Amino acid sequence: MFQVAFPSGTDWVGKTLSCFACMKCVDERFLIPEMLDNHSRGCNIPDGFLTTYDKNFAFLVFFTSDAIMIEDYEEEVAFFALETVSESTHGDFGKIGGIPDWLLEDESPATYASTTPMVFLLELMPCIQFIKVEGARPQMELDIFGNPSPSPLGYYQLFLGNTTYLFGTMGYDPLVYARRIKGSGLFNVIKSPDPF
Ligand SMILES: [Zn+2]
Repeated sequence: MFQVAFPSGTDWVGKTLSCFACMKCVDERFLIPEMLDNHSRGCNIPDGFLTTYDKNFAFLVFFTSDAIMIEDYEEEVAFFALETVSESTHGDFGKIGGIPDWLLEDESPATYASTTPMVFLLELMPCIQFIKVEGARPQMELDIFGNPSPSPLGYYQLFLGNTTYLFGTMGYDPLVYARRIKGSGLFNVIKSPDPF
């Protein structure tokens, strides 16, 4: 879906994060990343959670200097440069490094497996449209009967288009925690109209 090479001044400088998400199938249990029972500020992410919660998505992390360009890859998401304003205000895509701008209260985790510190990586704005290339397969979504059906939209959506905060481990084995926050953006307004 997207890829970010962390710049100097961020905790993951020198690393690149690639986010993959399956668009070919849909399961109502896995529309968004699994949530922790306790996700309040300073919480611990239980050992093993980050290696098992990624059911229909994946975060791949590698050293940016190790990257090799693949020439014959047929992309389905059209390339676009991510617009951000690092460390200060939002661009179109979100925010890299600095301090997360929480919609409600601060839910930053402190540790993974009780010992590995967690750092804020980036924040995705709501309603990001990952534009499909011509002929790319449609995203599967649930229709009003709860059955999988192809989306008529010309773009893919990640985690229902909600604001998402990514945190990473500070250790030799880089792992990513994704915390999605509902209640922002157009999607919820359209899908969950206020009955009053
Ligand atoms: Zn799938």
